[in-house]
Amino acid sequence: MTHSKLATYVSHSPNHSGKRNHKIDTLTPHYMDGNLSIETCAAIFRPTSRRASSNYGIGSDGRIGVYVEEENRAWTSGSSANDNRAITFECANLSGGKLTDACWNSLVKLCADICKRYGYKGVYYCGRADYSKLPSGYMLLTMHKWFQSTDCPGPWLSKQFSNLAKDVNAYLGSGKTPTIAPANNTHGGKLSVDGHCGFNTVLDMQHQLGTYEDGVVSGQWVGHRQHIWAIESVTWEGSGSQMVKALQKRVGASVDGLWGRETSTKLQKYLIKRGYSCGDAGADGYFGHCSVKALQRCLNDAKL
Ligand SMILES: [Zn+2]
Repeated sequence: MTHSKLATYVSHSPNHSGKRNHKIDTLTPHYMDGNLSIETCAAIFRPTSRRASSNYGIGSDGRIGVYVEEENRAWTSGSSANDNRAITFECANLSGGKLTDACWNSLVKLCADICKRYGYKGVYYCGRADYSKLPSGYMLLTMHKWFQSTDCPGPWLSKQFSNLAKDVNAYLGSGKTPTIAPANNTHGGKLSVDGHCGFNTVLDMQHQLGTYEDGVVSGQWVGHRQHIWAIESVTWEGSGSQMVKALQKRVGASVDGLWGRETSTKLQKYLIKRGYSCGDAGADGYFGHCSVKALQRCLNDAKL
């Protein structure tokens, strides 16, 4: 019997398959398509004739209920493969599928709590159920409508998955209650200026450079590591990155997709010229915490 301490209500549904056949590495938020209380949702999942359930329900008041314990596979997403590896949530919604701030904040905190308890650094969203690019130590966010003919998680929540990843990862990093209400675009939140170029900072770079948004600087050359040592969301197979190519074009560096000394120097010059100080060392070709802070301020001003 494993569930989050954030839950204040337990009402077990008989509708599940028992123990999972896969480790938990996925989170699947659904919408109720109605503003149901967690008690009403529990009552819907109670009859065996219903043949549906979820691990958790979250009400518009922000209260969290447990219907299926985390070790068991719930019947939520119309996919055995997904539900064997995912913890699933049913979220109450207002008109247009919108979640209240209280419901959203509880969803963020519950996702963060699950990450912590299962030893994950954060959550990752790439717009499809593709585990091949999942950075190690992250959980994947998936949507019900990828597996079944449904509009779930609805018109509003479907557009908030990037924000959800951002808020959960920010919450895990800072331990602070999320205070940013989700925006209507996919990149409404501000970055915290912490000097660490992780998932969210890379996601904003990709957004402002107009390249594919997955929160990772992929394909870098490990020999350049010292020149990009504060870039934390990075993979090293050496084939280059479209985002880095776009960045190199923007700052006037040679375009090969591999971020090294020249790209770091040119980007530092670009930032300094626009009033974002990279610290005492200036444009030294080593992209450290001071340079990342300058980059984060620049991204928050949407000036990259
Ligand atoms: Zn659903």
